[in-house]
Amino acid sequence: MADTPKTQKPSTIAVHGGAPRRGPGEPVSQPIVQSVNYVQDFGTSDLVYTRYGNTPNEEIVQKRIAMLEGAEAALVLASGMGATACALTALLRPGDHLVSSTWIYGGTRRLFSEEFVTMGIDVTFADPDERRAFRSSIRKNTRAIFVESPVNPTCRVLDIDQLATLAKNQGVALVVDSTLASPINARPIMQGADVVIHSATKYLNGHNDILCGVVAGSAPYIDEVRNKMMIWGQAPDPFACWLLERGLKTLDVRVQRINQNAQRVAEWCAKRPEIARVHYPGLPDHRDHQIAKKMLSGFGGLMSIELKGGADAADSFVRKLGMITYAASLGGVVSLIIEPRFSSHAHMTSEERAAIGIPDGFLRMSIGLEDADDIIADIEQALQ
Ligand code: PLP
Repeated sequence: MADTPKTQKPSTIAVHGGAPRRGPGEPVSQPIVQSVNYVQDFGTSDLVYTRYGNTPNEEIVQKRIAMLEGAEAALVLASGMGATACALTALLRPGDHLVSSTWIYGGTRRLFSEEFVTMGIDVTFADPDERRAFRSSIRKNTRAIFVESPVNPTCRVLDIDQLATLAKNQGVALVVDSTLASPINARPIMQGADVVIHSATKYLNGHNDILCGVVAGSAPYIDEVRNKMMIWGQAPDPFACWLLERGLKTLDVRVQRINQNAQRVAEWCAKRPEIARVHYPGLPDHRDHQIAKKMLSGFGGLMSIELKGGADAADSFVRKLGMITYAASLGGVVSLIIEPRFSSHAHMTSEERAAIGIPDGFLRMSIGLEDADDIIADIEQALQ
């Protein structure tokens, strides 16, 4: 197994990136080194310790993700929320200001509105549908713009090119939560973003079995994030890193198949009289289809549907589903469905949810690796 040059394609990097050259008799797969402590050279302070993010299983996966994102460096953390918290506290100090999109994951919204205020960090939420909303929110003390794209669960897509130009002109950092795209469908750093975050719990690992997060960016910045991770205790376990590395090996084939499956399911749903609306950026009538074509190389596995009968119809539909599992999270091999009003957006009122495009009865589906015909058959029988 050779060291991987930066010119390799993402599908190859996903298999080999960061792996050391192996000699005869050595294992082809990276072994798990399930040790927290490492023997230290007497008289030196070079500490190898799991919480510092510098143990073998952490390092290999960090190198691979940096290469996948086209970033100088990356860090793997214990969860997507841990990644977002450490990524932003490494950028912001008390008295600083953050401009955030309103279209963000519910947990991230809580981090900004409940935690950051207590830390003296001011946050303005900008509605991406409003013209010049990001530009007019920027102040003298603004340090960063935070966006999520594609957006969970509405599947909206933001123009990262435009936001990167704005951030550059204003001298602020652009931070993108690119969880829904994965580096196979989008590489925001190569589109001008400064920092990329993933909930690696989702597509990067892809098997519904670990919690992990990732931050990628410049090497000095990742050192700052590492410092936060060490202090706040947000490092991942070696076994989670080993599973993440194993999951990354199939990232390209999984995401390509999921892109195809979701497109077929979305097109089928769009023709059904029982379904009022299908939210999928790969459909030509999706509001952001043109932006999605520009920013993404695949439209992803997340789609949402609104049933004509509202909340009651949604309840009876999910009860009838067989193979498609009612569970939170997304981006794994198993097709999942969830109603945001009982999960990520349960803390909001019905009216508040409707105002951000998530009316009662709105169902989010994470399309998995099953045969598209079987996914469609399950939806069809549940609609009857
Ligand atoms: N970002 C997005 C877009 C998410 O959907 C989620 C979780 O659903 C997170 C971040 C948080 O990730 P985790 O659950 O790994 O902490």
